[in-house]
Amino acid sequence: MTTYTHPNRPRHPDQPATDRQLAYLRRLIAANPAAADVENYHPDTVAAMTRRQASNAIDVMTAHGPATGTADEPEAHRWVRHGDAWLVTGPYAEPGDLITIRKANGDTAAARIIDLHPASRPNRPLWTVERIVDAAPTNPDAPTPEAGRTYAAADGTPIRVQAARGSGNLYAKVWNGAEWEYRGRAGLALIARPLTADEAAKWGHRHGRCVFCSLPLTDARSVDVGYGPICAGHHGLPWG
Ligand SMILES: [Zn+2]
Repeated sequence: MTTYTHPNRPRHPDQPATDRQLAYLRRLIAANPAAADVENYHPDTVAAMTRRQASNAIDVMTAHGPATGTADEPEAHRWVRHGDAWLVTGPYAEPGDLITIRKANGDTAAARIIDLHPASRPNRPLWTVERIVDAAPTNPDAPTPEAGRTYAAADGTPIRVQAARGSGNLYAKVWNGAEWEYRGRAGLALIARPLTADEAAKWGHRHGRCVFCSLPLTDARSVDVGYGPICAGHHGLPWG
């Protein structure tokens, strides 16, 4: 009798990852290089994985979902028509999120995630969305995101913008109170304004790091100000 072993429940977790696991993981990475970059899944780290690590990485990349669609599909989120409801799948969403899609004609559209749809499967969440709004971002005064900069959501939550290695596509990481959480391209829509000097300083004093680059604040002046001199220059904030 043959026993099928699900790749997500490795039988010998500390042995090297199987060829099948690695092939599958590499396909997931190829489908969303920006997410793989954030998770630090690169050719060398993947090749060294144990079965348990590969299994975990497959779960993580499955949760991220694909980053791009085909010409007929939105770039950030894929649309599915289900009866009268509009549903979207991946790459990462939760109720309340404002997501951005790119239509086949190049226009962007925004929609808000309402809830998980009953047709969801564990590895393929489907979200019902409020409606498609043709005029994109909700906040016309929001700054245009640039890689390497940190901005603020309307409530002051820091949002860091980075460029994916390879594609150069921008994506957002949002400070969730404990870590910089990958929110993909859709997270860029949360940017409302620049981070103020006070907000940057407060974050730096609390965490002992510069909110813009994450480097530890070491010299006395940086510790006092709450962020570093180079980042202050880049963001046009007072320092020294
Ligand atoms: Zn810095």
